[in-house]
Amino acid sequence: MSTFIIDCPRCKAKVAAEHRGQVDWSYAGDDEGEPIGHRVVIGYCPSPSCQIPLVGRAEQFGFQGYQDWEDDVFGDVVRVYPEPAKVFTSYRIPGALSHSLAEADRCLQVGANIAACVMLGRALEALCRDVLQKAEKPEATANAPSAKPTKRLMLGTGIRELRDRKIIDDRLYDWSVSLQAMRNLAAHPEDITVSREDAQDLQVFVNAITEYVYDLTDRYEEFKEREAEAKKPRRSISEMFSCVAQLSTLPNPPEQNASKTPGDPRTAPDMP
Ligand SMILES: [Zn+2]
Repeated sequence: MSTFIIDCPRCKAKVAAEHRGQVDWSYAGDDEGEPIGHRVVIGYCPSPSCQIPLVGRAEQFGFQGYQDWEDDVFGDVVRVYPEPAKVFTSYRIPGALSHSLAEADRCLQVGANIAACVMLGRALEALCRDVLQKAEKPEATANAPSAKPTKRLMLGTGIRELRDRKIIDDRLYDWSVSLQAMRNLAAHPEDITVSREDAQDLQVFVNAITEYVYDLTDRYEEFKEREAEAKKPRRSISEMFSCVAQLSTLPNPPEQNASKTPGDPRTAPDMP
């Protein structure tokens, strides 16, 4: 039986899954007809104590018969089930952040924990720059151009500022300080090891802060808008039908108060 290498979240390791089926899908992607494709594979974890189903996706790089390719060639299998990569909904998330998060996830799945830490640090730095420098921009354009040249915002300053501006709370701040320490270790050529658990905790944190700053903020703003809309004073019944009433008063004035119940607090006030 053929196998494919995939990350098993329960065994927390790369395993040679028993291949039970696959689907290849390719199409002419962009305007130049450059093909795009991927393969979805399904199988079981081989560990006797686990045996959970695993589904993975592999990007297609080579296409048989296209250019010089003699065969179809696929990249590494990245797990999509169970525990798929986190998906965010906000359209405000900058590319540098989403790409770093996606790459961190791929690093974790291939056991490259130090590389994952570096990518997660990069993601957090991209978040800080996006949120804090965007907030500064109106000020910068209003003042003289010589006021402050835009300098690269570093991670340490960034997370402190996020807390000072109450964009994150103290608990998220403490956590991001630990992340920064780990990122600094990982980014420099020191002889360190990072456990999968530590790297995964870091991923949970960066996902949480991204969700908090973008997705939840979007949801909250939408909620506030709906709430404000609901609070707007509604037109009274007499206002809504005033034009009808005015028209009907012309030839023959009807009994306008006929439908009102005396003493009913919901009864609309009389027209002016
Ligand atoms: Zn397993």
